[in-house]
Amino acid sequence: MTIEDIESKYPELFTDCFDFSVGEGWLPIVDTLCELISAQNTGLEQKAGIIQIKEKFRTLTVYLSNGTGEMDRWIEFASRMSSKVCEECGRKGKLVGSSWIKTLCPEHSKNFK
Ligand SMILES: [Zn+2]
Repeated sequence: MTIEDIESKYPELFTDCFDFSVGEGWLPIVDTLCELISAQNTGLEQKAGIIQIKEKFRTLTVYLSNGTGEMDRWIEFASRMSSKVCEECGRKGKLVGSSWIKTLCPEHSKNFK
């Protein structure tokens, strides 16, 4: 799965997105989040859209336009989930490095010791 796959799967969510830059390991989390937002959008007059998806302080950060309170809670869940998943490969990860702060699995954290 790539960033392009997600953008073409949910084109209506990405019309105003100016930055989508996270590692491949987090894309299943982003995909699940998009699935939920897209499903809720069908019942909304004002559709939510994704403005930005990035890594901030080692976790997944997502900014929406017209987001609902429920969507904010899904984003909170996705963000917390990402702090336990390697951003590179999606395996179980944790915070590593002193200057390079990232969430990575043991294999991908080798370069950060
Ligand atoms: Zn990894």
